[in-house]
Amino acid sequence: MALLLAAFVVASFQSTPAAIDPAITRADLQRTLAFLASDELQGRSTGTPEALRAAEFLAQGLARAGIAPGGDDGTYLQRVPMSQVTFKGVPKLVAWDASGAQSELVCGVDFEWSGGVPTKKRLRARAVTKDDEMMKFTDDEVALFLDGSMSDRRRWLGDGRGAGFGLIIAPGNDAAGKEPSTKPPRSSRNSTDKSALPPGSIRAHGSFLAALRAGNVKALRVECDVEVLDLPAANVIGVLRGAGTPDEPTLAEQAIAFSAHYDHIGHREPSSDPSVDSIMNGADDDASGCAAVLELAEAFGSGPKPARTLIFFFATGEEIGLVGTKWYIEHPLVPIEKTVCDLNFEMIGRPDELAGGAGKLWLTGYERSNLGPEFVARGVPVVADPRPDQNFFGRSDNYALALRGVVAQTLSSFNLHKDYHGVDDELERIDFAHMESALRAAWPAIQALGQGTLDPAWNPGGDPSKKSTPAPRKDAGK
Ligand SMILES: [Zn+2]
Repeated sequence: MALLLAAFVVASFQSTPAAIDPAITRADLQRTLAFLASDELQGRSTGTPEALRAAEFLAQGLARAGIAPGGDDGTYLQRVPMSQVTFKGVPKLVAWDASGAQSELVCGVDFEWSGGVPTKKRLRARAVTKDDEMMKFTDDEVALFLDGSMSDRRRWLGDGRGAGFGLIIAPGNDAAGKEPSTKPPRSSRNSTDKSALPPGSIRAHGSFLAALRAGNVKALRVECDVEVLDLPAANVIGVLRGAGTPDEPTLAEQAIAFSAHYDHIGHREPSSDPSVDSIMNGADDDASGCAAVLELAEAFGSGPKPARTLIFFFATGEEIGLVGTKWYIEHPLVPIEKTVCDLNFEMIGRPDELAGGAGKLWLTGYERSNLGPEFVARGVPVVADPRPDQNFFGRSDNYALALRGVVAQTLSSFNLHKDYHGVDDELERIDFAHMESALRAAWPAIQALGQGTLDPAWNPGGDPSKKSTPAPRKDAGK
């Protein structure tokens, strides 16, 4: 994989600088979006060669804009380690009862694999029912989730308490399955940390389920042939170093990040009917935000030197848990304490009537900081997130940075369209006039961030990194 990444970095250096239009234009926005949302990129799923092509394209865009590389080893790419565990065969379980008698359990008949891969092969069975008991589990034990609902189990896993455990068993059907499985289970979710891959998870059926319920399973052995693959994944980072001002030379040490995620959720199993779309292009989510950040890079790159340092950040892995941004936070270009703001762009490709229609945006967590009011004071028609119940503040990359104290908020005009995370989030449905007009309207305030004349600050009680603020609920990526 390192080889592929290297090849691709060379490609970005070989790009010939072309004339760029420093103005924010719908033509530029259209060009960026047309490539990122093309079927060729197969929905830009993290870890795929197609997502790397998107990264390469964005790196070339930063180079053309005159923005310096901010990734690894003088490149625009910051490698994000990503592992994927794949089953090579059908797993088997061996169970022992109290007398030591052994029985072999068949996948598809006695149980079904429902996700993850066990990290240990020998597992001690122990039935649990309460959260506090689960906390005491070690990774060579099995959690038998016999009386909880599937949603309880998901919540438990979602809280991270499941990570590192061997296997989680949930009740399946009282009757055994009819046919032994012939295909290996589908691979687990990807992880940036090999030691923290999600645990295996199965549903028990028939006599196996009955034995578990009766407490007659004392030990289990999991037999499975798995392969750990390293996947290519990278953030794309450009930097425009600040020059400070005569009065405040230290402004140059402060950074403002402009961010958007370039990954999306890939494609479905292609249909045998070629007229059926299977690619989730992610034009609005979030090729639109990426196009905006690239336009800002061009505008700043061709203008006077900013006072503050500007970071142009295209994240990978947002859709699988903000993993690119979390990696960046551990390996930042400018110390996180010196990063005074992250202005994140998410789904700005279609107007939202609740924000006032075309050319208008809303800001997540508006009441948490001075950012929204300062934008409004500079004539930017930005309003508070009109659907606070959706918790958009906690659903994009800004949130990982906000949890570290950075004033990090998202501009959006997502109108809850039904094409979200579907095959119809297409280029044709993007309103480029709206995008151009909204970004041009926001430009004076965005410039003020660069010039150091707008100082982002949390309002009292607004900083989610402080304990007094109730934590928004955990959500998957937007
Ligand atoms: Zn998104």
